Amino acid sequence: MGKRVAILGSTGSIGQNALQVLAALGPEYEVAALTTHSRIDLLAEQVRRFQPQIAAVTHPDFSKGNIPALDGFRGQILLGPEALTEIASQEDIDIILCAVVGAAGLPALLAAAQAGKRLAIANKEPLVIAGELLTRQAAAGGAEILPIDSEHSAVFQALQAGRPEEVRRIVLTASGGPFLRSRPEEIEQATAAQALAHPTWRMGPKITVDSATMVNKALEVMEARWLFGLPVDKIDVLIHPESVIHSMVEFIDGSVMAQMGTPDMKTPIQYALTYPQRKPGLSKGLQLETLGRLTFEAPDLNRFRALAVGYEAARLGGSAPVVFNAANEEAVAAFLEGRIPFGRIIELIEQCLQNHSVQTHLSLEALLEIDRWARQEVHRNLEHRTVLTSQKENR
Ligand code: NDP
Ligand code: MG
Repeated sequence: MGKRVAILGSTGSIGQNALQVLAALGPEYEVAALTTHSRIDLLAEQVRRFQPQIAAVTHPDFSKGNIPALDGFRGQILLGPEALTEIASQEDIDIILCAVVGAAGLPALLAAAQAGKRLAIANKEPLVIAGELLTRQAAAGGAEILPIDSEHSAVFQALQAGRPEEVRRIVLTASGGPFLRSRPEEIEQATAAQALAHPTWRMGPKITVDSATMVNKALEVMEARWLFGLPVDKIDVLIHPESVIHSMVEFIDGSVMAQMGTPDMKTPIQYALTYPQRKPGLSKGLQLETLGRLTFEAPDLNRFRALAVGYEAARLGGSAPVVFNAANEEAVAAFLEGRIPFGRIIELIEQCLQNHSVQTHLSLEALLEIDRWARQEVHRNLEHRTVLTSQKENR
């Protein structure tokens, strides 16, 4: 029997890529479970093609009642947010590929860690919010955590060239997003359409906005800290607009290992599934001769204030990354709804961090409580501002 894989969030961008990878890998890998939040028609299509043992719809609106689109599916149907944890606890599933957005996958990953499974993680929030807890649980349960995020997959691959104690630093590369050359006042007022036009990667909307603010890179610093057990001052960020070098590891002898490839998430997805082996892949090979040159620059922390704020939150540790992440999620949602301009995202995050005193060594419940507080705090700030502007307009 092949390795049995559950894809949490199979209808998303990573999830769909993962299904392409699994289809190409052949019978050595079996699709055991697929989940959507609310794109039921797409899930139904995937279920018909891949015949998993479990199909799940996680949006609470679908917790009760039946799902006509899944009529004829002979496997088990799970409904509601708890479906993810139920899938992650199934004994006969070997790999949990987590490709849901935000923190939604966290309880499921903790369950999978406890059960000693392989965790292939695309979403950074679980490690950002509960990295300490998750890595501890994985060590105790004998689980492996493999990154899918391209930078972390690159670091993970480059690390194969040496031992952990031989690492001097890691360098996460960043494309710089759509606003790399924009003037600060343009960035301040940018709209969702402008922020969603990522130059090199095609991704879901939340992470695309995070790339434009560089909150994404800040979250990746926090993610790397736990994945690789490194202090924050050994994690550097370098702008590399071509996104060909996905990240690097510098060893103590001065040797630098860089992992390169075309910007295609299928490569890191596949490596997280097949590690320690490599299998023929779907991604096109790299033709450096047609690219001509690769360029690099230090990130401008005035332009990308989110990176500076994120580093500070990462250094503080404890609950600071939780607040940074939760405030960002709410601010990005407000931005995508057209309620605030782009520049306000980082302001909301900073306000929230300023009103928080950092706590360490917290339980999952305490972490989630702080997560909720930060979200409410952003909404209080948003409403406060709305009241002020409407008062001004009425004058
Ligand atoms: P998408 O928005 O395209 O897909 C998200 C998936 O999760 C969908 O299947 C969605 O269902 C499901 N989902 C959404 N909300 C919930 C919820 N509350 N509970 C359970 N499931 C939910 O995102 P991406 O595929 O782009 O990204 C997934 C994760 O991977 C993100 O955390 C992102 O940061 C990370 N990542 C993505 C990269 C990329 O290239 N796309 C690169 C590196 C990291 P539905 O379809 O019904 O909405
Ligand atoms: Mg990334």
